[in-house]
Amino acid sequence: MQISRPLAELDWIQRPRLLALRRLCIETVENLLTHFPRRHEDRTEFPEFPREESDVPICLCGEVIKTSLRRFGGWKKIFEATLQESKPNALSEPLVCRWFNLHYVQKMIATGQRLVVFGKPRLRGKRICMDHPEFEVIENDEEISIHFRRLTPIYPATEGLSQRVLRSIICRILSELSPPGAGLETLLPSELVSGDMDRATAIRAIHFPESWEARDAAREHLVLSEFFAMQTLIASRRTDASIRIGQAHCGSGTLLEKFLESLPFELTGAQRKVIAEIRRALAASHPMNRLLQGDVGSGKTVVAIAAMLLAIEAGYQAAFMAPTQILAEQHYAVLRRWLEPLGVRIALRTGARQEESGPLPLFAAAENQGSARVSRVGDGVAPSRTFLNVQSPDGAFYSRRRVPHFEKPWAIYAVTIGTSSPRWLSPKARTIVLDALRHFHQKHYELFAASVMPDHVHFLIQPWPKKNDYAGNVVFWPLSVLIHSMKSFSAHKINKVEQKSGTLWEKERFDRYVRSDRDLKEKFQYILRNPWDSGVAEQNEDYPWVWTQDDEARNERLFRGEAETSTRDARATRDKMREDKPQIIIGTHALLYENVSFSNLGLVVIDEQHKFGVAQRARLTAREPTPDVLVMTATPIPRTLTMTIYGDLDVSTIDEMPRNRGKIITAVRDESKLGEVLSFLRTQLEARRQLYVIYPLIDESEKLDVKAAAAEYELWRERLRPFRCELLHGRIPAVEKQEIMERFRSGETDALISTTVLEVGVDVPNATVMLIENADHFGLAQLHQLRGRIGRGEHKSYCILLTSNQPKEASAKLAVLERTNNGFEVAEADWELRGPGDLLGTAQSGLPALKIGNLKADAHLMRRARAAAVAIFEADPHLESPENQRFRRLIVEQQGRTFSNVS
Ligand code: ADP
Ligand code: MG
Repeated sequence: MQISRPLAELDWIQRPRLLALRRLCIETVENLLTHFPRRHEDRTEFPEFPREESDVPICLCGEVIKTSLRRFGGWKKIFEATLQESKPNALSEPLVCRWFNLHYVQKMIATGQRLVVFGKPRLRGKRICMDHPEFEVIENDEEISIHFRRLTPIYPATEGLSQRVLRSIICRILSELSPPGAGLETLLPSELVSGDMDRATAIRAIHFPESWEARDAAREHLVLSEFFAMQTLIASRRTDASIRIGQAHCGSGTLLEKFLESLPFELTGAQRKVIAEIRRALAASHPMNRLLQGDVGSGKTVVAIAAMLLAIEAGYQAAFMAPTQILAEQHYAVLRRWLEPLGVRIALRTGARQEESGPLPLFAAAENQGSARVSRVGDGVAPSRTFLNVQSPDGAFYSRRRVPHFEKPWAIYAVTIGTSSPRWLSPKARTIVLDALRHFHQKHYELFAASVMPDHVHFLIQPWPKKNDYAGNVVFWPLSVLIHSMKSFSAHKINKVEQKSGTLWEKERFDRYVRSDRDLKEKFQYILRNPWDSGVAEQNEDYPWVWTQDDEARNERLFRGEAETSTRDARATRDKMREDKPQIIIGTHALLYENVSFSNLGLVVIDEQHKFGVAQRARLTAREPTPDVLVMTATPIPRTLTMTIYGDLDVSTIDEMPRNRGKIITAVRDESKLGEVLSFLRTQLEARRQLYVIYPLIDESEKLDVKAAAAEYELWRERLRPFRCELLHGRIPAVEKQEIMERFRSGETDALISTTVLEVGVDVPNATVMLIENADHFGLAQLHQLRGRIGRGEHKSYCILLTSNQPKEASAKLAVLERTNNGFEVAEADWELRGPGDLLGTAQSGLPALKIGNLKADAHLMRRARAAAVAIFEADPHLESPENQRFRRLIVEQQGRTFSNVS
């Protein structure tokens, strides 16, 4: 019989059993043989009958000297069989085996039979009893029992397949294997094989070992085989990656120097070390695949920036991917603050932005967004668009008006601004004006349309909310402020470019409040037609300084080198895009999908890797030439896991925190102490520190219960009065989230009541207190992540974990956080408590599930397997030598793909 044989071909296995086996994904002989026991029971026969109780089940063999059936409680029955030792002596005690209400047992057992039993001996009165032992009647002493008098395998269970049945089937298959090794090839390099162990022997011994030593030796062999196979797959992936065409993506470092000089702090030694490592990898011509590990707050962003600067200095684009929109926007803000002074061009692309700037018809977009923006809890302002239904009697004529004194929520304005009389906007100046308008589009306002004429500019604009005032009302960006910043920004830039001085814009402006949809439509078309209607452009000529949201999308396409047209418009835009091409593109996973493409991508930085799977990573890097990849994670993982989950990556570790960090003190408190906790929070707020309150109410994946969030928020507002609170959760539109964060960052708000959307990366140094409600609902790693939001400035920080009457395990878990602030220690403890389950999701890791090895207990074997696999691939990357060719099978089998780079 060959191991590849389907079990269905074996006529002695009954159909229901085949079906049960199939449920365990066991279809072939080999599948069955590698259905390894979960553990073994010591059922070696005990030489003597016990005289005392035992908590350990034991195996005994004896002769039935008496049976009896007793009734109790009416219809219930007890069947008793009394066994005597084979060689009884004066001190021997008989053993009474008892079965309650098991009718069939009584039919199987009779006086004079020899019986093996397995169970726990118990003292019942004066008798030693065994209740419901497993048993077997021995017909012939020669016959070796499968189930008793040995180390007996216990398998992962399944419905419809008892241990006994499974054991019998496996035993029979092992005995029928011929030749005894039948296709069970040992796929291990010799240094991992001890003695003359081979796979066939190991498989026999793992099911039916002669001794514990034999079992352990067999297990070690099988675990090594499994780990070696896994490490071979990983090593082959590395090899695959390194033979792909890569490029050096490393500039001279001048830009990096400038950046480091501009930083308000010194790098830590660890940061310097990893930057040097990354720099070497960037300079190498094969693709970089590197993991940057560092605890929360260890300063990974700076390292990422350093890497990106090296790449863009060499003339490449860099992409920076964050797991959430909030983080992408935060990175965007940070990078702009730090890098724009150095002249680096940065762009933000996120899923939401992508959609919003897609080629939606104006009005559909405007209407949808109206309702989408209502959802901030507590502000009570709905975009009042009812006025749009009011018919305006007059046509599309502009009248001279002043900006209204009050700002109407969600009002739309048509604005016209003229240049001051001698000034004339050159083509270059017009581009600057248009850019100035686009710059705050979807940040401070929605821009619907604009046209920049040689001596004036028209645009349609809807200011967005700016902040909450003290009473909690929304304050919108005043139109006057928006117009002023557009004017001064563009005037300044144009004067600089044209080396002129003096006023560019006239003081007065024409603007009007758009009162109806019809009104809006007319203004919109007026603006779009203006260059042609006014004769500035010929009918068949393009005019590049007209803008709508559609154009924004079109510009992006042009930027990708598609949609060629030979008009002046296209040329103008293309030239502009070339000179404005962003060097760093920041985004979320949206960057992975088609709509964004890069012209010259040299480096991809992925922040917080655990949210990205291997498959997603592959998608980014599946282009030629392959960009360098740096993945960053703030979830330190135990070393053994690094070898597997991230086994195909090189690892750089930041193992040092910046020195200016205040201490974080963590305390677990019962909910009953909330009063004391609150007064502590107040003392901190009074000292002008800021506070995060985290509650687990809303999981981003769950349906949002806005009411509950609002209630939570009300509660905290009440508790913390008169300090100012705001609510943050996953369903708040990105723009508002961003603004809420901005208000918190600037200190306008004292406390942020938040779900775990806060989790990663948020950085507000003055926020030094965090209260986590129902802390026991979170995992350790997540709590540590959350806690990483504080302790970012020089002040002492406090993290309070609030729980309600917790069982022991939960408090042991939380005590870990009281004990240490070190992420690696937390990760180890977490692993200890939970096992690697969550960490090694196969979907995430792209690795086959383990059948026998245990990543934690067998870490030493993983190290040996890895070293062996690495050594083999270093010496023979394509597995060409005769002794290595057999290992190709491992890759093909695991990957389900052919080993394409092997000739
Ligand atoms: P994380 O590793 O969690 O991503 P960040 O990169 O967000 O950490 O850095 C956290 C904070 O520490 C930021 O405000 C950053 O400016 C600051 N920082 C980074 N490196 C240093 C350093 N060497 N010395 C002082 N502060 C630093
Ligand atoms: Mg970070």
